[in-house]
Amino acid sequence: MKKLMLYLPLALVVLIIVILIKTFLFTSKQDKVAAVNPVEVDIDDVAAHLSDAIQYCTLSTQDSSMFNPEPFLKFNAFLEQTYPLIHQKLEREVINDYSLLYKWTGSDESLKPVMFVAHTDIVPVEPGTEKNWKYDAFSGQIADGFVWGRGALDMKSTLTGLMEAAEKLLQTGFQPKRTIYFAFGHDEEIGGPEGAAKIVEVFKAKGIRVAFTLDEGMVILNEELSPSKKQLAVIGLAEKGYVTLKISVETKGGHSSMPPTQTTLGVLSKAISQLEQNQMPASLSGAAGQLFDTIGPDLPFVQKALFANQWLFGGVILNQLAKKNTTNAMIRTTTAPTIMDGGVKENILPSKAHALVNFRVLPGDTVADVLAHTKKAINDPNVEITIHGRTNGEASPIASTDSFGHRAIKKTIYQMFPGTAVTPGLVMAGTDSKHYVAIADDCYRFAPAIFGPDTPGRIHGTNERVEIEGYVKSIQYYIQLMKNVGSSTEN
Ligand SMILES: [Zn+2]
Repeated sequence: MKKLMLYLPLALVVLIIVILIKTFLFTSKQDKVAAVNPVEVDIDDVAAHLSDAIQYCTLSTQDSSMFNPEPFLKFNAFLEQTYPLIHQKLEREVINDYSLLYKWTGSDESLKPVMFVAHTDIVPVEPGTEKNWKYDAFSGQIADGFVWGRGALDMKSTLTGLMEAAEKLLQTGFQPKRTIYFAFGHDEEIGGPEGAAKIVEVFKAKGIRVAFTLDEGMVILNEELSPSKKQLAVIGLAEKGYVTLKISVETKGGHSSMPPTQTTLGVLSKAISQLEQNQMPASLSGAAGQLFDTIGPDLPFVQKALFANQWLFGGVILNQLAKKNTTNAMIRTTTAPTIMDGGVKENILPSKAHALVNFRVLPGDTVADVLAHTKKAINDPNVEITIHGRTNGEASPIASTDSFGHRAIKKTIYQMFPGTAVTPGLVMAGTDSKHYVAIADDCYRFAPAIFGPDTPGRIHGTNERVEIEGYVKSIQYYIQLMKNVGSSTEN
């Protein structure tokens, strides 16, 4: 005992020294790349084009009988008119009547093609909120330094941004060495089965694979939103999967005057409660772990020391991250009971009841894992657990940070947004990339748009808008990125 008392302070000192050394060795992961002068873009012209684009009400509706093809056809015609060089020099294929695939053929066939992805469809304005818009949602109003309207952020500004960039490069006579595709699905907002999925079929049939796709998903966080308080570009390497389980209970039911001690609703409620108390395991591996590894060195000292010493503080970090909904979703498959249904009358014991629980699957977990976990957590033979609705809900693979595509996307961020840090990240929502993983070596999810605390709520929300100066910068980013990937001979 005496000996132990003697060694304990010594051990503590050694531990502190190890922690400090690891913290000091945990240095910035950012590259030093010189800024590049952006190509000049006519701000009024590009704002006017985006304003026009917003005025086409290209709505995705859950109920396919409500689909109105007219605005989609008109939108596609608008692209033809607005970007004449693209339509002269690139091959355009209309896929499944409304989706668009452009091919800008490269001069060197030995180089793997790349693909820029966007979608032409938008979500509806929530009924009853029309009056809360400062300007009509489909006016494309240009005011206060913004272009306003549904789809401005998600994602017509990306789509027209890509078109502006390619048109500009064509004006200057630019010829890419590798082939560049532009793929614009028309039903991303309802999962992409008629758009992106059909474009993927075309590639599969022709046996064409691309080095990478670049799609929506992540953006640049301004100083206020960034965890390191330094402007931070997040390149999404993966997206979570999606599965809903139906939890069903069936008992005898009967009159409510003489109920058994265990009722249908009681069993169902207990099952849901068990699930909430037994969350899927948390993990710092994968894209979320890569994010903390990358931004860790730029965090304040105490946080930096924690992330530098995950061997010791891994549990503490996971506990802290689990406390906030936003960070909890980054480290585990989340459990969200969304619907509960049972009972018809106050004095009848229902014989049947069910609940739906929606899980967002962390890359690394599988739908089978979720199912097994749920069965184990509920552990009740009276409860039936089945997969509800679509079943292809697996999480995406994690894209490489060591590919020529990732290097190009990252380098272009440094070139066009000097002072911005770059990190890999995980996308919580679904994008069309879930289809493109089948034909791409790597799928990246990043749009060169700077978001502040007020921006995310406008996506699918009220007063969606894009800052015009930021929009110009995103066009300049795409021009530089197309130059970088188009002139590179890496494969
Ligand atoms: Zn979108």
